[in-house]
Amino acid sequence: MAFEGLADRLQGTIKKITGKGKVTEADVKEMTREVRLALLEADVNYKVVKDLIKRIKERAVGQEVMESLTPGQQVIKVVKEELTELMGGEQSKIAVANKPPTVIMMVGLQGAGKTTTTGKLANHLRKKFNRNPLLVAADVYRPAAIDQLETLGEQLEMPVYSKGTDANPVDIANEAIAKAKEEHHDYVLIDTAGRLHIDEDLMGELTQIKEDTSPDEIFLVVDSMTGQDAVTVADSFDDQLDISGVVLTKLDGDTRGGAALSIRAVTGKPIKFAGMGEKLDQLEAFHPDRMASRILGMGDVFSLIEKAETEVDEKKAKEMQSKMRSMSFTFEDFLEQMEQVKSMGPLDELIDMMPGANKMKGMKNLQVDDKQLTHIEAIIQSMTKTERVDPSVINASRKKRIAKGSGTSVAQVNRLLKQFEEMKKMMKQMTNQKKGKKGGMNLP
Ligand code: GDP
Repeated sequence: MAFEGLADRLQGTIKKITGKGKVTEADVKEMTREVRLALLEADVNYKVVKDLIKRIKERAVGQEVMESLTPGQQVIKVVKEELTELMGGEQSKIAVANKPPTVIMMVGLQGAGKTTTTGKLANHLRKKFNRNPLLVAADVYRPAAIDQLETLGEQLEMPVYSKGTDANPVDIANEAIAKAKEEHHDYVLIDTAGRLHIDEDLMGELTQIKEDTSPDEIFLVVDSMTGQDAVTVADSFDDQLDISGVVLTKLDGDTRGGAALSIRAVTGKPIKFAGMGEKLDQLEAFHPDRMASRILGMGDVFSLIEKAETEVDEKKAKEMQSKMRSMSFTFEDFLEQMEQVKSMGPLDELIDMMPGANKMKGMKNLQVDDKQLTHIEAIIQSMTKTERVDPSVINASRKKRIAKGSGTSVAQVNRLLKQFEEMKKMMKQMTNQKKGKKGGMNLP
């Protein structure tokens, strides 16, 4: 999982300080020392760590903390805010050209995931924002790259503009833009050539395409698993091309997180998206605050909601939300929702986004599998309608009956009842938070 190592270390540190009714300067010192070590171990740029720790210390030792009722929590808030700031603060937007099409140039080294990301981004634009992108195969040096994009186009049922390997990439890009205008495509995604290393020829060609097509965005695709190398690559591309944003790929396999935490501070350019797997729907808009929550084990509740909202029938999701808000959410709804959760994909992925999940999995070595869902379902199905609507009537003898009926134990029934109450509480908090924020995606 992304950031696993860092999350494990930081959460231990955080736990120690959260419970403190009084935080002394020595506590803060110890905490920042541990945070510093954790970040360095996660391969975060040395200077970035130094500046960050300095800011955390300054803020955490100040009055703000000492006078607070729950000083431990205040300190964590400071750490979270600073981590969020480090990754760019606000989620950044994607450009929308005044006159369509919006042109996005995709650049990056070979193997970083540029072509795959081009397909993923097109899919994202269509699925989330109802856009109609044209993909452009401008990597004329590698026939395999053109084939790959064409295959992605077929999978997505989206058009790909290509002219084989004999044409000039600048001409291809210009012709594709003209075609997009004619055929009313609102986005043009140009998959440019990659090389194993940065070289002058590559930069020359990319600069030429940039000058000729005046793209609205230049997205650099980098492999987060390469850690500080990704940061160096981003810095060089930015120097030469003045990129507008970064897409971090393979964050699903990046247990350290050094690139994600350093790129913004080093280049000044925002991370716009994160690749979370090889599949075409595994691209997420990058939310610094959610990422910071994930790292600190506060879960990524908003991503979970967003995932639910795209996958689940929207009307139903709205109904659920209003039920949750009004606390009239029952086991009946829960059962229905579980059916939908199952259709959302592997449980592991969803669990990773939930608060405390990292800790839970690490501590108990809990194997989260779909079998657990089956147990939960069986328990709910063994309840009467009254019990599902008002679980408070479930006394000891009812619990026994339910356990027997579902082939589980009273302890399992108790656990579910408790989890359900907690979930209701969490949902309420979460919907309140969401109501208070400007919701939704940032585009367009
Ligand atoms: P390009 O040479 O930069 O165009 O790279 P490709 O698009 O061909 O991707 C290289 C490899 O990385 C392929 O095997 C992709 O499936 C894989 N890949 C790309 N993005 C991700 C990601 O977010 N997560 C994972 N796990 N693999 C990815």
